[in-house]
Amino acid sequence: MLAGKDGRVLHHYKIANIVATEGAHLANFDAAKFAHLQALTPEERADIAFVMDARDMSLALKDMRHKGLELQVIYHSHPHSPARPSVTDIKIATEFESTRGILNLPEPLHLIVSLEKKDSPEANAFRIVNGTVTPASYRTV
Ligand SMILES: [Zn+2]
Repeated sequence: MLAGKDGRVLHHYKIANIVATEGAHLANFDAAKFAHLQALTPEERADIAFVMDARDMSLALKDMRHKGLELQVIYHSHPHSPARPSVTDIKIATEFESTRGILNLPEPLHLIVSLEKKDSPEANAFRIVNGTVTPASYRTV
């Protein structure tokens, strides 16, 4: 997660991928994908799916409050696919929307980094609201 102030990113929070560490049982996957994920090693699972660790997230959000920062971006990589949200990404982002409402957090952009082309990584940002994906712009300074 990336946090900052006035539209500017100032802090980076690393969040564990529980699909890698604990398996796919906690994630919201269909039966076929679930069976496939369970058959893989943790490294292979992390390569194709992610679910953020709730404890890491809550510690990061607490730290943001202490530092007076706002959640701005949730990012992850696609090691072998393009820089656009997968069906699972949209599902997870949409579920996060309800948590976000309860915690009164600002709407984050979803940034996806594609490592499909190893020598020219691509990063695209999106708004994901109610299952609808809209490209968003950002710039690096
Ligand atoms: Zn993804």
